[in-house]
Amino acid sequence: MEIGQTLQKYNFTFKKKWGQNFLTDQNLLRAIVSDAGVDKDTTVVEIGTGAGALTRAIAERAKRVVSFEIDRTLAPVLSETLAGVENAEVVFADFEKYDLNALEREIGEYVVVANLPYYVTTPIVMKLVEEGENCRGITVMVQEEVAARFAAREGTADYGAVTAAIALFGSCEVTRRVPRTMFVPRPNVDSAVVHIQRQARFQVDRKAYRAVVRAAFFNRRKTLVNNLIAAFGMPREQAESLLSELGIEKSARGETLSPDMFCRLTQKMIDSQILFRQGQNKIS
Ligand code: SAM
Repeated sequence: MEIGQTLQKYNFTFKKKWGQNFLTDQNLLRAIVSDAGVDKDTTVVEIGTGAGALTRAIAERAKRVVSFEIDRTLAPVLSETLAGVENAEVVFADFEKYDLNALEREIGEYVVVANLPYYVTTPIVMKLVEEGENCRGITVMVQEEVAARFAAREGTADYGAVTAAIALFGSCEVTRRVPRTMFVPRPNVDSAVVHIQRQARFQVDRKAYRAVVRAAFFNRRKTLVNNLIAAFGMPREQAESLLSELGIEKSARGETLSPDMFCRLTQKMIDSQILFRQGQNKIS
């Protein structure tokens, strides 16, 4: 039975509040799994099971799929669409609130594949890049504008705290564009698939880096120096000399700093004991 018929059989109603726009095109589903680099040794955490079309496509290639779905009314649908798929399990829970450490202890290393509502994509990607110790990669369908923000270069309007956080985790590329016509029901925006691959590119204390990046973008209209002073309570003279030692202009704004420069700035602030001495409670 087709997924549409199964949804009808159980009188399923699409819920806008959970961004329920489902995919059915088998070629696209397989392409997303291939973008994620899934093979028979991979454990996949899927976020947003929906009617299970992507779950099934992942399970065909993966060792194991643990798929999270917030909407319990999909349970009867999924027991039909995922019947016979032995290596997939569905957890009915809000992934945003789920204990990531507990999940990681149970499943070990994993990659994430997700086609999620746009309003939760950024918080969930931030949670994974900042707290996901065993997460090797993230392949996620996002609104085209969000994809541009995730993969932005410094010095552009799209570059922000999210971009810099993702860059610390690894490389980020847009693997394909997906027109709105591929979804049922059809959303008002086009989408893109983004693949984020873990890479140890920079060596820096992650919490400290996060604190510096958040401070740098706290008020985008302010200069970097003013944002640092406001966040860490450092004297202006010290803040300015720190930036000048790194060759950063006094008038620079956060969005002009590359992830590499954010790492160097973070390290300098740790070495000068600014971060931990003055900003300790801001970091923890
Ligand atoms: N993966 C399916 C597909 O590609 O057809 C469904 C994608 S649909 C865009 C997003 C799914 O995520 C919906 O089924 C929705 O109920 C679920 N969802 C929304 N917020 C969630 C959350 N915080 N945790 C887990 N699932 C969520």
